[in-house]
Amino acid sequence: MAMIPIAEGTMKLNELKNITDDHTKSDRMPLLFVGHGNPMNAIEHNRFSDTWQKIGTELAKPQAILSVSAHWLTRGTRVLSVEQPKTIHDFGGFPEELFAQQYPAPGAPEMAKETQRLALKNHIALDDEWGFDHGTWSVLKQMFSKAEIPVYQLSIDYSKPMSYHYEMAQELRSLREKGVMIMGSGNIVHNLRAINFENAKPYDWAVEFDSQIKEWLDSGNHQAILEFQNLGPIAQLAHPTYDHFLPLMYVLGFQHKNESPFYFNDDFDMSSVSMRSVIYRS
Ligand code: ZN
Repeated sequence: MAMIPIAEGTMKLNELKNITDDHTKSDRMPLLFVGHGNPMNAIEHNRFSDTWQKIGTELAKPQAILSVSAHWLTRGTRVLSVEQPKTIHDFGGFPEELFAQQYPAPGAPEMAKETQRLALKNHIALDDEWGFDHGTWSVLKQMFSKAEIPVYQLSIDYSKPMSYHYEMAQELRSLREKGVMIMGSGNIVHNLRAINFENAKPYDWAVEFDSQIKEWLDSGNHQAILEFQNLGPIAQLAHPTYDHFLPLMYVLGFQHKNESPFYFNDDFDMSSVSMRSVIYRS
């Protein structure tokens, strides 16, 4: 049996089955925020990656997956439109085995063009240079290991305010009715400077920030999350840079009001990385 943390507020495995059962209720595809954490999760069997595998076996198969990864930061928003994206090994200091990994899923150029068409307020440029960064493939390698489902990525314009990302996702929301599963890939707490490899208990500020975000996710208070910097010092500690938090802004924008969050992997890794992940289904 996989070690899946069951904490208060966390769904249990039977609930996971219920919410991932084939989508008889709605043709709207699921929406996920995945805490990806350590790139080694791509090849390790641990409590986080085991849950990714479990979810992959129980989700209805989407026609395509759109990933918004913390690791594709650009000026201007771009959408990956190549037929066969390359696997990018955008990290250093890891074992050769990790660099040898490939995720050969096809791209989704037609869906990329549709994504570009849907953005009326802001321009999205087609991109034929990026590929799958590890924010995308480290998760999908475990979740959909056969790499059969077409995958494409939307970049994050790091120069823009929080509201830009939220509104961009709102414009693209109908993709979920077009067979596209959305995955934001980042971390709700992500401070690499504070990492503790002995994996001691999480820092108090990390727990406090993570719990506050959960509370706002539970109540659907998107505005408070967009203004997370108002939390002051704990926000600065949770996100010395914003890259891993920004994918959550997209997930919020893609969420419909009637959808409630179900959490998985709501635990910390290395004391300063929250692996809390969320799935929304209609
Ligand atoms: Zn990352």
